[in-house]
Amino acid sequence: MTVPKARPESHKEKLHIHKAAEGVQLTVKGVVQGVGFRPFVYRLAKKYSFSGTVINCDEGVVIRLSPPLCRLANFLKELQDNAPPLATISSVSEQKIFDFFSDRFVILTSESSGTVSTIIPPDVACCADCLRELTDKQDRRYQYPFINCTNCGPRFSIVESIPYDRPATSMKVFPMCPDCQKEYNDPLDRRFHAQPNACWKCGPRLSWHDEKGREIQCQNPIAEAVGALKQGKIVAIRGLGGFHLAVDATNNEAVGKLRKRKLRQSKPLAVMVADIETASEFCVVLPEEAQLLSSRQRPIVLLAKKEQNDLSPHLAPGISHLGLILPYTPFHHLLFMEPQGPKALVMTSGNRSDEPICTSNAEALDKLTDLSDCFLLHNRDIVTRVDDSLVRFAQRKVRFMRRARGYVPEAVSLDCELPEVLACGAMQKNTFCFAKGNTAYLSQHIGDLNGVENFEFYEESIQHLKDVLEITPQVVSCDLHPDYLSTHYAEGLGLPLYRVQHHHAHAVAVMAEHGLHEETCAVILDGNGYGPDGTIWGGEILLAGLTSYKRLARLERLMQPGGDAAAKEPWRMALSVLLKAYGPSVLKKYGLAHSLTKIDAHKRATLIQMMEKNVNSPLTSSCGRLFDAVAALLDVCLVSDYEGQAAMELESLALGGVQGFSLENMVRAEHRLPVVFEHMQGEMVIRSVPLIRAIVDLLDQGCDRSSLSLAFHCWLISSIAAALRELGCRHNIKNVVLSGGCLQNVILLQGLTQKLEMEGFHVFSGEKVPVNDGGISLGQAVVAGMRELEKQSLAD
Ligand code: ZN
Ligand code: ZN
Ligand code: FE
Repeated sequence: MTVPKARPESHKEKLHIHKAAEGVQLTVKGVVQGVGFRPFVYRLAKKYSFSGTVINCDEGVVIRLSPPLCRLANFLKELQDNAPPLATISSVSEQKIFDFFSDRFVILTSESSGTVSTIIPPDVACCADCLRELTDKQDRRYQYPFINCTNCGPRFSIVESIPYDRPATSMKVFPMCPDCQKEYNDPLDRRFHAQPNACWKCGPRLSWHDEKGREIQCQNPIAEAVGALKQGKIVAIRGLGGFHLAVDATNNEAVGKLRKRKLRQSKPLAVMVADIETASEFCVVLPEEAQLLSSRQRPIVLLAKKEQNDLSPHLAPGISHLGLILPYTPFHHLLFMEPQGPKALVMTSGNRSDEPICTSNAEALDKLTDLSDCFLLHNRDIVTRVDDSLVRFAQRKVRFMRRARGYVPEAVSLDCELPEVLACGAMQKNTFCFAKGNTAYLSQHIGDLNGVENFEFYEESIQHLKDVLEITPQVVSCDLHPDYLSTHYAEGLGLPLYRVQHHHAHAVAVMAEHGLHEETCAVILDGNGYGPDGTIWGGEILLAGLTSYKRLARLERLMQPGGDAAAKEPWRMALSVLLKAYGPSVLKKYGLAHSLTKIDAHKRATLIQMMEKNVNSPLTSSCGRLFDAVAALLDVCLVSDYEGQAAMELESLALGGVQGFSLENMVRAEHRLPVVFEHMQGEMVIRSVPLIRAIVDLLDQGCDRSSLSLAFHCWLISSIAAALRELGCRHNIKNVVLSGGCLQNVILLQGLTQKLEMEGFHVFSGEKVPVNDGGISLGQAVVAGMRELEKQSLAD
């Protein structure tokens, strides 16, 4: 930087110099680091012949421009309009600066200090430019399994600290070769400051290992892996955010072997296919779904299965949908490009059941040797474990079931200003959430907190995200449930603690996402949540505000014999509803449901006795348990192998019976089962006893199960809509939020949305965060933050 030569002094000139001496400093905040923002600014400055500097700082990207600055407004417009694909600008602030001169434009190295308001970008699927080079024989990165550039590659999964620069990532152990360094230093190159930049000469490598983990020297580990997969072997593949276990998805025996070894009888397995064309062979792929499949986030997308295909029938037994995913790392692409390569690969998470996915080679060799026949490893460390995301497209929107790779740690912007909060989340499908100001950062899917390793993953992830976001929570938030491990964790932090009822959190998560501040009717259809009255909740309509709520309606309470055991064994709930509907003598005499004869008579008798004596049979108004009861009565699922199985199979049965689900067939089905209300202690109660009696009668008459399943879904939709008609009127409310795990069910989501919209309600559900327990932490954060603000304003 140089100071321009002194100019001749005249009155006029002086004025001119004074004006020209005003430079400008622009501070750009948002996702602006590690996304090619500085080279973009460099090119833009060149275009406008501006001189000055650009630098990554803790607060974002700072641009200093020295005078003269003609057409600055145009520059600013282009800065925002043409930003690189991965950048998200949240704000640009402008400040005059004096005594700043530069004779050219330069990119300065990063500064780090103080507070952070920049965000690490999520991991990004291999881009089209890189893919072209990957297949170009002339390119120096031809078939290089770790090819990446500023627009793609690993990010969140390799970052150790901020600011996001190579020495702060797991790429620090790979010094760049002169060619890579040249690209890295060249502001006009696509790889300028691409932190994971690498090539055959200097970057990470794949290696091939036998069942004991011994390395086998070979020319091409990918060809070896493809060979093994073709022979029906299970290959443990180290990926981007963790390990996968892969088998040929067209090989029945191999899929069976994987299920047996993983002790997973029927949990749906995700399948990777080369492209949309192959995906369309196996499933119905709508244009929006194709877009999702090939998006840079590359989630697993749940798609409707086609009847005839070459895939093993054991991939998602009893379910009308299949989770498909396209390749997202360069080596996934290479697997499918191999001659004789697989058509479809099961890619299930590489873990032992109920443990987090393995990330390090040592961990995998320790834990996955019983599960896999060989290993495809690499030597780039995974700093942060992050699973594949799982979404489905429903009611014209993306719906998250698992929000992780590709999306985390993208911020969710809020319509309110919060103090710094840590929300610890629920017990299952756990995520936690940091909030600060008008942004919330939801963690990746952590999963079930039970088990030492899962809990360690939880604690480590909280610490890591806290460090990279540099948030120091002033308050914490947790579930009302006293025994959740997340509650214990929150209690141990020694900070002001706000306990949030599970379903209030479900409601506020959706309200926060859509910027709803006013009191709203919240339809919560869920598995279970701790109720303040000592019963288990999970089927309610709440009058929900951001800091408080009141229950207006609920499903009729049923006994949940055996407590948590009932959630795993739906036949228990069937017995419970029958007992309630008919009483013990009738039940014992007639049995009443054919499906239950498959359960040992002694077991049944014991359970009836248990309920009669009211032993270990808590009361529940859970919608999930009602689904369990109906699924067992219809002989869909008596004992479940994974969480939510009964409800998913019941949904599939209903979808399979008609050509998809439509409003017309809903109207036809809804009158088959009686909707009955009762008013108790100021609450509306949706009675399930008349429903159960009607189902038993229809089963007796030989009614087919799929139309009964659809009728049940429609009964629930009608009941909720009827209740809301009355409640909406009484409380003069037009906004309705739909939340809770059962609303992952497309029939319920679609049916409720359409029916309620027809009646003039504005309906909102989760689009950026899951409606299952993965969204709980966002709701907790907002409730706690708002209550803290309320408290502070009362104290003032
Ligand atoms: Zn790229
Ligand atoms: Zn290199
Ligand atoms: Fe829940």
